[in-house]
Amino acid sequence: MSIQHSDNCVFCKIVSGAIPSNKVYEDDKILAFHDIAPVAPVHVLVIPKSHIKSAVDITPQDAEIVGHIFSKIPEIAKLLDIAEFRIVNNCGASAGQTEFHLHFHILGGRKMGNMG
Ligand code: AMP
Ligand code: ZN
Repeated sequence: MSIQHSDNCVFCKIVSGAIPSNKVYEDDKILAFHDIAPVAPVHVLVIPKSHIKSAVDITPQDAEIVGHIFSKIPEIAKLLDIAEFRIVNNCGASAGQTEFHLHFHILGGRKMGNMG
């Protein structure tokens, strides 16, 4: 599977190395790095290297990569030394999405409040 890239996408630039990031985990398909503006003591983003705009753009062809992300989250959490955490995906601008390259927030290191 070739990696799709979108011009002017910050996270594609992080994948290519054009924008630096503080990496936690990387393999040929995914990357996990610390959020630049953390809202919790641990705040990491997990992204597919291939450009998928948002959760609503996930197709059956993306099932493997999305499954791969979730199968690696336990390992990433272990690297971060968090046993319990929240996984967040903001899908669409009104839901709070600001970077239009699929990503899952891993938030931990403090007691989480209610969703809202
Ligand atoms: P969202 O609002 O769900 O689209 O999340 C986008 C996240 O990307 C925000 O939490 C930002 O702080 C984070 N972010 C934006 N640019 C960077 C960057 N260059 N490195 C790391 N995190 C970033
Ligand atoms: Zn992208």
